[in-house]
Amino acid sequence: MLAGWVVSEAADGREALVQALTAKPRVIVTELWLPLIDGVALCEILRRDRSTSTVPILVVTSETRTIELARAERAGADAVLIKPSTPDIIVSEMKRLIEDARTAAPVASPPLPAPGARRTALVKAHRRHFTTTPDEPPASLICPICAQPLRYQETFVGGVSVNHPERWDYFECTRCGRFQYRYRTRKLRHL
Ligand SMILES: [Zn+2]
Repeated sequence: MLAGWVVSEAADGREALVQALTAKPRVIVTELWLPLIDGVALCEILRRDRSTSTVPILVVTSETRTIELARAERAGADAVLIKPSTPDIIVSEMKRLIEDARTAAPVASPPLPAPGARRTALVKAHRRHFTTTPDEPPASLICPICAQPLRYQETFVGGVSVNHPERWDYFECTRCGRFQYRYRTRKLRHL
């Protein structure tokens, strides 16, 4: 039992898949690095199966590479928390995802803003996500190698706490490849 819920645990990705398909959970919490079937593949399979296609998936992982976190979100993870995450934060996020799934309209609509409780702010601050519509528009940048304008791709929002927000914008030069722009330091890095 965790916060009044019945929890099924799985030792590896294959067992997690079997349990998810048979137990019809209200929320699925997974690592990315699982034996047999990894977390990304697990998300993909669960999203394709009709019985689990709308079950919220929360990834709690020690992975910090943005490219791997992006893979998880594209595979169907609804939220990603980076370890260490406290049990409070994980439970809050699970509740939020269940609530979002319950209130989700049949047509795609943005999630309703949660009431401004302190806990909500904390969860929000710890929630890392990718977006292509950041609060502030991306900077206009020039490729430092060939001086062509860089094309904006996406933004990763993260940070360790409310007081230390972070944002990384990803850009591409058609000749030179991908660049990462750290918003706080205004430094552009070739990837
Ligand atoms: Zn270039």
